[in-house]
Amino acid sequence: MVKVTFLGHAAFKIEGSKTVLVDPFITGNPQSPLKGVEDIDKADVVIVTHDHGDHGFEDAVKICKRTGAYFVSQYELVVKSNLEKVEPMNIGGFVNVGGMGVEVAFTPAWHTAGVGDPTGVIIRMDGKTIYHAGDTGLFYDMKLIGELYKPDLAILPIGSRFTMDIYQAAKAVEFISPKFVIPMHYNTFDLIKADPKEFERLVGDKAKVVILNPGESFEI
Ligand code: ZN
Repeated sequence: MVKVTFLGHAAFKIEGSKTVLVDPFITGNPQSPLKGVEDIDKADVVIVTHDHGDHGFEDAVKICKRTGAYFVSQYELVVKSNLEKVEPMNIGGFVNVGGMGVEVAFTPAWHTAGVGDPTGVIIRMDGKTIYHAGDTGLFYDMKLIGELYKPDLAILPIGSRFTMDIYQAAKAVEFISPKFVIPMHYNTFDLIKADPKEFERLVGDKAKVVILNPGESFEI
């Protein structure tokens, strides 16, 4: 069993035999159920998909220092982090992070970033596969991501303007064909308003849409 907790915006905690954080934007995140990074005492792996302020690079560095977690990101961001316990990577094959049994692979994402390029991420742990798409527009190779990794869960942005909107994200579900979908990256700010219920309606029976409020969890 793997437990996925929504920490608001694009931030997630994934707990199984290890604890994994993705895009831990906590400081300044109006949706964060946590008061600050000091609320995080345990993490084994911290992943940042791309260098934008709302994806938590700075908090990730602090969390890695507090918890001794591995920092996993593309090479350029790993260099920028100055951390020592790291797995520098890029879009490609899986890395078994620190030999701990958490396997991570980065995927393309159509977006921009400060340092380096934007990515999505595949996380395999305890026999479950999760695709966190990062920030991205819709692209047809999501079909390949579905074929290659067969994700149990896809976490997709739906807020439009900077990422897919609900219509494009519903098309993405068709391409990826996961069992479950959690929408993210919407309603954090006025610029990215979206209706997750309407997204759920558009997805229909293609997958089970799980709408989480910040702080809520779902088990796969
Ligand atoms: Zn971004």
